[in-house]
Amino acid sequence: MSNKRIFLSLPKKSGFEDKYIQKALDDDWITTGGPNVNDFEGILEKYLGNESYVAALNSGTSAVHLALVLLGVKSGDEVICQSLTFSASANPILYQGAIPVFVDSEPETWNICPENLEVAIQDRIKKGKKPKAIIAVHLYGNPYKVEEIHRIADQYEIPIIEDSAEALGSSYKGKMCGTLGAFGVLSFNGNKIITTSSGGALISNSKLSKEKAVFYATQSKDDAVHYQHSQIGYNYRMSNVCAGIGLGQMKILKQNIDDRREINCFYQTIFKSIDEIELFQITNNDCFSNYWLSTILVENSAKKNINRENLRLAFENANIECRPLWKPMHLQPVFSDYPYYGNNVAGDLFERGLCLPSGSNLTTEDKNRIKKVITTFTK
Ligand SMILES: *Cc1c(COP(=O)(O)O)cnc(C)c1O
Repeated sequence: MSNKRIFLSLPKKSGFEDKYIQKALDDDWITTGGPNVNDFEGILEKYLGNESYVAALNSGTSAVHLALVLLGVKSGDEVICQSLTFSASANPILYQGAIPVFVDSEPETWNICPENLEVAIQDRIKKGKKPKAIIAVHLYGNPYKVEEIHRIADQYEIPIIEDSAEALGSSYKGKMCGTLGAFGVLSFNGNKIITTSSGGALISNSKLSKEKAVFYATQSKDDAVHYQHSQIGYNYRMSNVCAGIGLGQMKILKQNIDDRREINCFYQTIFKSIDEIELFQITNNDCFSNYWLSTILVENSAKKNINRENLRLAFENANIECRPLWKPMHLQPVFSDYPYYGNNVAGDLFERGLCLPSGSNLTTEDKNRIKKVITTFTK
């Protein structure tokens, strides 16, 4: 057996990327926007369905930021954000000079908790400010409690930004994640389910919102022969070369999702006989997960010397990359001064959780090495 490093989530090529990149070069369209970008948006819109409009951007982080801009979030406004997530969900709140209000997870989906969300909204209103938006995340590709969360958001008339950066291809009751809220966010970073090397998209439900997003993403140029600006602009548009990679990647999106779900089944067969380790599984039949990353919770067992960190080190010794879950935002030094509503569910998940290698490139040999580490560790 080789000892080559096994990574958490690497990009995989379809082989069609070169053709579209070459076309960008042949067309002399080596800049932002262009034919590949338009085609990529069109294919994504068709794939997502649900009358969605897609603006292709240079990152998922840009998409979160533009969603806040389009919702009119300004300095001093408050924005609710799921605490258990990657920092890119929350950073753009600070870019706007707004105040993040973090909400805990619930144990079933690991995503934003409906009860704590409502407590947070009521308390913020009582303190004098109704939150301007809610950023809910389909973490690791697993849909949050869509019905409960959207019911609360509708009741208080607060728009939802659906961070679907990890959830392209996941769905709720047959509707694609990212198309359920006021805005949806996708990421095509190298570690995500498909990549454009770096890239993202903002999903909206109107042509006008898409046009506004593109306007802001291309420096907010007014309609004039000279350069005229009445709004703050951003340089957030996707490059035509990167969109070429995206067009090639769309050909294997379905395959990548099938592969990741197959990897989740592989982990199911291993963990079903191990009491101390629980594989995260979707339990609601209305939800479909792309299982972007397979994740586990490790119970501490002093007798067998089993705990999360020891398991991670056992993988590391075998040159296999595993990582703790995202560290909750309310526990991050940069966000420690902002309000948090919860019962430490996210904190507990962070202590016990581990992300396992889940990339579409995993070989049978890789799987055998992973399985050997787990069986030896839990013997
Ligand atoms: C990756 C990611 C983002 C940001 O996407 P980038 O394309 O890397 O900017 C946002 N939110 C979540 C949950 C992510 O995992």
